[in-house]
Amino acid sequence: MNSNSHILRDNGLRVTETRQVILDKFQERQSAISQSDIEADLGADIDRVTVYRTLKTFVERGIIHKILDDKGGVKYAMCKESCAHGDHHHDHLHFKCSVCQETTCLEKHLIPKMQLPEGYQQEEVNILVQGICPNCK
Ligand SMILES: [Zn+2]
Ligand SMILES: [Zn+2]
Ligand SMILES: [Zn+2]
Repeated sequence: MNSNSHILRDNGLRVTETRQVILDKFQERQSAISQSDIEADLGADIDRVTVYRTLKTFVERGIIHKILDDKGGVKYAMCKESCAHGDHHHDHLHFKCSVCQETTCLEKHLIPKMQLPEGYQQEEVNILVQGICPNCK
């Protein structure tokens, strides 16, 4: 297994095999993954609650971030730059390919500032662009 334990340690997490295995999944793929992808991948080796808790911890620590999927689900992707603990706001676009269903972070393409009606306070913006990715074109 490649050693990604330093990422866990840098983020103040104890190194456990489960955390390493899940982190591995994110490192070996460029595109976003869902909790059920991880469960399907790891099979019976791991229980759902553990996967759920591990993902939640990773999000809290700024190792991965959430991406809202078009079918109401949630996917996750690695944070590219080190995100400050607990407060990593992402303002980049996400792209979902309608052919291969892969969701990708478009890190360099930022969401434009939103104009909201008076009285509305913005906390988070998620933009999912749907279309066909370069691999499927
Ligand atoms: Zn982040
Ligand atoms: Zn595609
Ligand atoms: Zn992203």
